Amino acid sequence: MTYHRLRKTLPDVCLSGLLFVLFFLPNLNQLRAAEVIDPYLEDRLQMVEEQLKTRGIDDPRVLSAMSTVPRHLFVNKTLKKLAYHDGPLPIGHGQTISQPFIVAYMSQVIGLQPGQRVLEIGTGSGYQAAILAELTDKVYTIEIVKPLVKKADNLFEKLEYHLVKRKQGDGYYGWPEVAPFDVIVVTAAAEYIPPPLLKQLKDGGRMIIPVGSPFRVQHLLLVTKENGTVRTRKMMAVRFVPFRRAR
Ligand code: SAH
Repeated sequence: MTYHRLRKTLPDVCLSGLLFVLFFLPNLNQLRAAEVIDPYLEDRLQMVEEQLKTRGIDDPRVLSAMSTVPRHLFVNKTLKKLAYHDGPLPIGHGQTISQPFIVAYMSQVIGLQPGQRVLEIGTGSGYQAAILAELTDKVYTIEIVKPLVKKADNLFEKLEYHLVKRKQGDGYYGWPEVAPFDVIVVTAAAEYIPPPLLKQLKDGGRMIIPVGSPFRVQHLLLVTKENGTVRTRKMMAVRFVPFRRAR
C-alpha cells in the first residue's frame, strides 16, 4: 500500500471504528440489557416472525403490540416456557388464553384507532386487553369469573396498564354506563350475538365475536353497523371457551 493510499484509508478506518464504538456497542449492550430484563424477548420476536407475519398479520401497530406485551407473565409460572408456542394455554378455572395468532388476528380485523373506545368481554388472563391497551387508551374489559378478575387486576397494576378499566360481571349486558363503543371484542363463544352488545356498538363500529355451540364448529364473526344496518361476515372457523351466563 502506498503512503498516499494509506493516508486516505487510515482516517476511514478510524472513522468506522469510532462509529462502531459509538453506535453498535451501546446497541449491543442495550440488547443484552433488554434480554436480562426480559429473557423471553427473543421467543416473542420469533413468535411475531413465524406465527404472525407468515399468516397475514401486517398492521405495524398490532405487530408492535404483540412484540411488546410480555405474554409469559399472563400464564402460570409453570407454563412460562410454553407462552410463545403456537396455541392456547390453560389459565385456570377451565378458561384459556387464546393462541397468539387469534389475538393478533382479532386485534387487526377490528381496525382499532388511537383514542377509540373498546369493550372486551372475557378478560381472562388480561393478555388481549393488554394488546388492546397498546392500541388505544380507552379499554374496558369485563370478566365473569371473580378469581380471574383479581389476578388480572394485580397484573395490570404490576405492568402499569392503569388506564384499562375493568369490572366483574356478565358481559352479556355490556357496559351501558360507558357505551357506545367504537369496537367490541368478545373472547368467549356465544350461541348468538348478545343484543345489548349490538345496541352498545357505535354506528360505524366493528365487533368481533366467536359464535357457535361449545362442542360444534364456531365462527369468528365480524359485525359492522352502518346507518343502523347490522351486517355480519364469517371470518374463520375457531374454537373458544363457552360464553357463560350469570345465574
Ligand atoms: N381474552 C382472554 C381470553 C380468555 S378466555 C385472554 O386474553 O386471556 C374467555 C374468557 O371469557 C374466560 O375468562 C371466561 O371466564 C370469560 N367469560 C365467559 N363468559 C363471560 C361473560 N358472560 N361475561 C364476561 N366474561 C365471560
